[in-house]
Amino acid sequence: MKDRIRELREGVRPLEPDAHRRREQLAGVVRYTEDYLDGLDERPVFRPATEETTLPGVLDFAEEPSELSDVVDIMRKRLDRSGTINSSGRFLAYIPSGALYESALGDFIASATNRYAGVNFAAPGVADLEHNLIRWLASIVGYPDSAAGDLTSGGSIAALSAMVTAREHGGVSGERIKNSVVYLTPQTHHCIVKAMRIAGLADCVFHTVAVDDGYRMRADDLAASIAADRKNGRQPWLILGTAGTTDTGAIDPMEDIADIARSEELWFHVDAAYGGAFVLCDEGRRRLRGIGRSDSLMLDPHKGFFLPFGSGAVLVRNGKHLHDAFRARGIYMRDLDNHQGDHVHSACDHSPELTRPARGLRLWLPLKLIGLAPFRAALEEKLLLARYFWERLSQVDGFRVGPKPDLSIVTFRYVPKTGDVDAFNQKLVDRLSADGRIFLSTTVIDGHLILRLAVLAVATHLDTIELAIDVLTSTARSIEYDG
Ligand SMILES: *Cc1c(COP(=O)(O)O)cnc(C)c1O
Repeated sequence: MKDRIRELREGVRPLEPDAHRRREQLAGVVRYTEDYLDGLDERPVFRPATEETTLPGVLDFAEEPSELSDVVDIMRKRLDRSGTINSSGRFLAYIPSGALYESALGDFIASATNRYAGVNFAAPGVADLEHNLIRWLASIVGYPDSAAGDLTSGGSIAALSAMVTAREHGGVSGERIKNSVVYLTPQTHHCIVKAMRIAGLADCVFHTVAVDDGYRMRADDLAASIAADRKNGRQPWLILGTAGTTDTGAIDPMEDIADIARSEELWFHVDAAYGGAFVLCDEGRRRLRGIGRSDSLMLDPHKGFFLPFGSGAVLVRNGKHLHDAFRARGIYMRDLDNHQGDHVHSACDHSPELTRPARGLRLWLPLKLIGLAPFRAALEEKLLLARYFWERLSQVDGFRVGPKPDLSIVTFRYVPKTGDVDAFNQKLVDRLSADGRIFLSTTVIDGHLILRLAVLAVATHLDTIELAIDVLTSTARSIEYDG
């Protein structure tokens, strides 16, 4: 047996690269990422998948190692040639992201050092760093020190944690589910409704509250709806407000909703996945006033904090509710509480996850290495770019813009002199996608196909917006006059 073990030990060597090999591989990876990043400016921001870019060849694992250069070649050919480049400045669709390089370095450090961030005693420094990041996020949205939270992989998981917390706090289970009312608008993000389904709450009563001409929840309609539900013997329970909707960037009237939630004793959840980061700049903070009066809130640092994908956050104003909803122990964890005592913060007590990476580094490192001022400047820049685009486009013949943007999303459509308006706008966005200089997306509002331009990538600047106006104008004209 020992001989076999020794033989296996030889076979295992490649799993434990020495320092020389590590450096060599890292240099190769950096060469690849630099090439990728260097080329971004020239590349079409969208390329449809073609036969050639699909997967065959990727899965032919050999028993022997492959050369890094060959693997990089596969990545270039098979992974990199199609799809969207979401952190390009010319990506103006959905919600763009930033992909700060410092954040990628944070991920690299988290993985290379592999500290265990789920429980405090395993990496107290890492756990405290995350706890402090949560406190910082809580402070910027206006939550008190009693708040708790969790760094998640994204907004959808943050929504799930918030909905489970609201459910546990409200005792919404069994027979009560069918009688409990949730208030939302047509602009509420579907991931929250999905989270409710996952949390066993699909049978709640969902009441759609009317919106104003800026697509914001109407507080008077909310109040009327709650009163009617009470009269009909239903149990109003949860208000889903949005601080920056994905479709239009609308901010629901936070103060008014908070007043209603307080007097009616309802749980007020704010989806600030897209809009929350704007509290970092003065103008954004003014527009978002009142979000700190909610009971729970979600943020998506992989949007407005410009991080690469993989960062969301849930915050709960009274941290005890989050703790009550998620604290759990396995018997084999008995040593843990001996090691760390009761007063410390462990991520697993606030999260569905146990084992997790040191996720905070991807947020902390950029904030430290870059400083806050550039974030504040970038966010104000995005707000102004959207306003600028809205003003400029409203002066171009044929274009009809939607409401003045609350944040950094502008909705609009082109109204041709003749013909079907929706079909025209579909053609317009298809032409833009094929052209590849800018990338926009569409939505449907009140039954109409609407184009939207979302400004949030770090690399979107004034010249990008000028380009977008030029490309939109010339493309619309060429469809209108040449078909
Ligand atoms: C992006 C977004 C979400 C969903 O977050 P993911 O990180 O994509 O899971 C929820 N709400 C709003 C307003 C969003 O913009």
